Amino acid sequence: MKKVAILGASGSIGLQAVDVIQHHKEEFELFAFSVYSQVDKAIEIVKELKVKHVCLKDEFDVEKMRKRFPDIIYHFGDEGIFEIVSLAEVDIVINSIVGFAGVLPSIKAIQARKDLALANKETLVVAGEIVTNYVKEYGVKLLPVDSEHSAIFQCLNGEQKSQIKRVIITASGGSFRDKTREELKDVSVEDALKHPNWSMGANITIDSATMFNKGLEVIEARWLFDLDYEQIDVIMHPESVIHSMVEFVDGSVMAQMASPDMRLAIQYALTYPKRLAIASSESLDLLKYKNLTFREVDFNRFPALKLAYQVGKIGGSLPATLNGAKEAATALFLKREIEFIDIDGLVEDAIASHTLIKDPNYQDLELADQWAREFVIQKVGEKKHGNIN
Ligand code: MG
Repeated sequence: MKKVAILGASGSIGLQAVDVIQHHKEEFELFAFSVYSQVDKAIEIVKELKVKHVCLKDEFDVEKMRKRFPDIIYHFGDEGIFEIVSLAEVDIVINSIVGFAGVLPSIKAIQARKDLALANKETLVVAGEIVTNYVKEYGVKLLPVDSEHSAIFQCLNGEQKSQIKRVIITASGGSFRDKTREELKDVSVEDALKHPNWSMGANITIDSATMFNKGLEVIEARWLFDLDYEQIDVIMHPESVIHSMVEFVDGSVMAQMASPDMRLAIQYALTYPKRLAIASSESLDLLKYKNLTFREVDFNRFPALKLAYQVGKIGGSLPATLNGAKEAATALFLKREIEFIDIDGLVEDAIASHTLIKDPNYQDLELADQWAREFVIQKVGEKKHGNIN
């Protein structure tokens, strides 16, 4: 019986992880989880599964929930998250916290010698070097939950790293894949939130539409599989059936295919190297698709992806800057304070204005993240007040 802790259990990935555990109660126990503000979701989970530890945002939420469920052990705040990832009983932590906020909890889980199933991309995007060094030092497993990385991970099963020629990450292209740059000028928040293939949280759906999501995945792949950027290609594949591919030195290309369902990637991270039956028992029906199509990525149409490659190659504090600026700009777009097409430019400006730190420690990354957020907010404020420089 594997004891699991889920961070960010009320999000899209978190709830699907709960679903996976519910379908395999004989294999997994949800021992602990955290939610941020959605206490109602926490209550739904503890009604379904017997959970020993719950971490909430603050003491106020804890007292509210304790009245109804007095037998649970409660934790709260950032410290609470660090406490639940360090619980002696926990075997594996699923980190599905959204954004930069998930980086430190990943580090704490590794330092507590827990295997880490990573749905939080930012852990490797922002702190790839620090995190992969800790993984080696503490001897834990880092298991991808992102569908593309899970696909590569599955294709690499039993293979040797030295025999990889390149990986090919597939991209659906997000909500606006068929729009020209010109047509992006008047898209709304509602349009951006309609992903054609995947049902995901708001932030990642916007990241798919800008292609920052794919950019983060390129950087994530670099660290997860210890590759050079020259070995990472991205190809558009609108049907999202092939989740990614690996080409080996002998020219053989392995692809992993499945219907787009995140539960497969979540479950594989938990069962690796075994497999278990999946809850949605429908087989992939290739005849339904008839054609699987591929297109070249247009880097001018999707500047975010080009930017991610550039930033990833330079490294240091730059990926943290890209991510912080991207998170701030996305939040402003969701609040309707900027237009969709402003997002890339704001991130680009932040990167151009940032003073690079070459070998950053975690505090440096935190500062770079903070700086980038403030830069974007200030820049948008200036534009609003008409003094554009
Ligand atoms: Mg993905």
